[in-house]
Amino acid sequence: MRMPSLIVAIGLFLGFAAVPGQAYQLDGTSWREGQATFHYDLRYKGSAISPSGKSWNSAFRDAANAWNDQTAFRFVLDTSDPSHPCAGVGDFPQDGFRNGAAFHDKVCNQVDGTEDDFGSRVLAVTIGYSFSSKPDEKVEADMFFNDAESWDIYDGALQGRLDFRRIALHELGHALGLAHEKSKPAIMQPTVGAIYTLQPDDVAGAEALYGPATPADEPIRMAIEEPFNGDVKSGISTFRGWVVSKNPLASLTLYRDGVLFGQLDHNGKRPDVANRFPTYPGSRNSGFAFATNFGDFSAGAHQYRLVARDNQGNQLEKTVSFSISRYENAFVKDDSLVSLRNARISSPAGNDIRIDGLEHDGKEYRVILRWKKAKQGFDPVEIIRTR
Ligand SMILES: [Zn+2]
Repeated sequence: MRMPSLIVAIGLFLGFAAVPGQAYQLDGTSWREGQATFHYDLRYKGSAISPSGKSWNSAFRDAANAWNDQTAFRFVLDTSDPSHPCAGVGDFPQDGFRNGAAFHDKVCNQVDGTEDDFGSRVLAVTIGYSFSSKPDEKVEADMFFNDAESWDIYDGALQGRLDFRRIALHELGHALGLAHEKSKPAIMQPTVGAIYTLQPDDVAGAEALYGPATPADEPIRMAIEEPFNGDVKSGISTFRGWVVSKNPLASLTLYRDGVLFGQLDHNGKRPDVANRFPTYPGSRNSGFAFATNFGDFSAGAHQYRLVARDNQGNQLEKTVSFSISRYENAFVKDDSLVSLRNARISSPAGNDIRIDGLEHDGKEYRVILRWKKAKQGFDPVEIIRTR
């Protein structure tokens, strides 16, 4: 019989030591917004599909949605623009606090830039980051699944291969701020075993951090998926999300920096939302999206607020804060005013291109371009005037 293997969480607090915490255990940190966006596109030994035929991405999504559906915490998921959990190594927080998840043969420590082997029988690691000035506020979490193990996706008792979904469920518990629980049945037990779903103790732990879960019969549910909190935008991109309601919606109103922007249509195809919320009428066609030119925004911090109202007087609102990175002159007519002649081009991490000394209309900038899978191209994620 296989001996239980360890699942280890490393709580790395910048400038502080981790303090492990009877029933559910908290790791001492939580997310201020009660949500975290994970950027991932999982491949195990080159394959997106597990031996059982399910994709790693769908198992990760199911694990995240289990937390989303049973607790007040929200994992927002993005598979279009994955962030390797090692991105920004040695350059923290240069990757913009992007939470990543991947199969990997090493654990990357973004604080000192080193890569360490998984310890003996360590299946997965989630590293959380906080600033020493705010040690209880988690700002980034990165998740590593040990490439050297053999993985699959299934329910029930442990088989020869590890079940990825239950281990993702456990690691996501670390990501939202839970530590190991030894005294009660919990997915947060330190060793992997027959438990493959969230247990009451796990849900109680999340409730201690983020309050009670949204009731299943909540009249309106809604998510803004892009931009997400903390996103950095420039150029043309999309505003998108979904809304479902038990009663007919009377309005879906968007405000931009506090100013009325307009009413949004919400009838885009969203089979994934229908799968999660089958009891909400119209959940299959619940998406909203429009193209937006973030170049029209001034550089710095901005906010979208979206308010949904139904015909019974129920109301739900969501707010996302993001920032704009842009050149001071949004439109340069003369191509000769843009030059790379004194520029230095490097690749600090993963699929980033860094340009130092880009001349643009008489000013000098540092620009970071990042590969965007959804666009199949490089997009600016940072444009900072340096001179
Ligand atoms: Zn653990």
